[in-house]
Amino acid sequence: SILFDRLSTTFSDLFRQMGGKAKISEKNVQDAVEQIKLALLEADVNLRVVRRFVNATLKEATGEHVLRSVSPGQQFVKIVHDRIVHLLGDEAAGLNLKGPDTTSVILLLGLQGSGKTTTASKLAARLKKEGRRPLLVAADLVRPAAVDQLVTLGSQIAVDVHSEKGAKDPVKVAKNGLKRGKKELYDTVIIDTSGRMHVDADLMKEIKSVFQAVKPDETLMVADAMTGQHAVDIAKSFDETVELSGVILSKFDSDTRGGAALSLKSITGKAIKFIGVGEKSDDLEPFVPERIASRILG
Ligand code: GDP
Repeated sequence: SILFDRLSTTFSDLFRQMGGKAKISEKNVQDAVEQIKLALLEADVNLRVVRRFVNATLKEATGEHVLRSVSPGQQFVKIVHDRIVHLLGDEAAGLNLKGPDTTSVILLLGLQGSGKTTTASKLAARLKKEGRRPLLVAADLVRPAAVDQLVTLGSQIAVDVHSEKGAKDPVKVAKNGLKRGKKELYDTVIIDTSGRMHVDADLMKEIKSVFQAVKPDETLMVADAMTGQHAVDIAKSFDETVELSGVILSKFDSDTRGGAALSLKSITGKAIKFIGVGEKSDDLEPFVPERIASRILG
């Protein structure tokens, strides 16, 4: 995989050099941290995040107890590893849904093309596999093909889709979808909403209205991992409008440098809950920081 290619080359080279050393000096640590800094910046990690990472790592790794320990190189490697896991969010964060006797609501938000519609169906497929009974709701009334796309995807995974031909009001569709979900005993209603090319007032107003109408249990922003730090800025904007409960990073199978994954948690405080790893309905994986760290660190 080409994922994190540059980043993991830097880390694995560095870890090989440092890990094998029986003694390391403060200068060795400084040089190593400088290389990490450049690699993180090149991977489009947020500058503030990089600075904090560098300062904290330097402080910890140049401590006497590290430099004078029996295996300082190994300790250095462990410090960096743990800090990367921390940047990624430490623990995997699952979905907070109610039990199957009530209807939970998942609202999906994001810019146009971020992968919302595809992700909605992936999430439905996943929940269905876990024994839940999801209903998809097609409330993206802006992108012309979005409704038909969701209907098609739903039929491919045998999940029902609530859609309203000719509808103009996404709030109404979302509300009707939820009403139907409750009445027909679906335990999860997944609402696909519209995006725009950019964050704008019109989009935020629409999203806020839908959010207030359905009071979601999970409000997840779908972000394109390839957009790097931009994804983090967008998440901030959405979070100021509706409180996000998490983020799904799509297109994690593409040539992403890692910037979004490594910056998001510390900048927004929001956990990445899933990653999209392809275009098929089963290409959605839980985001497990430890696992991603292993891929980054090589
Ligand atoms: P929306 O406008 O946000 O609803 O975006 P779509 O769901 O239509 O997705 C836009 C494009 O990205 C489509 O061609 C999807 O197949 C593709 N896509 C979505 N998620 C992924 C992913 O995880 N990996 C890859 N490779 N492509 C994806």
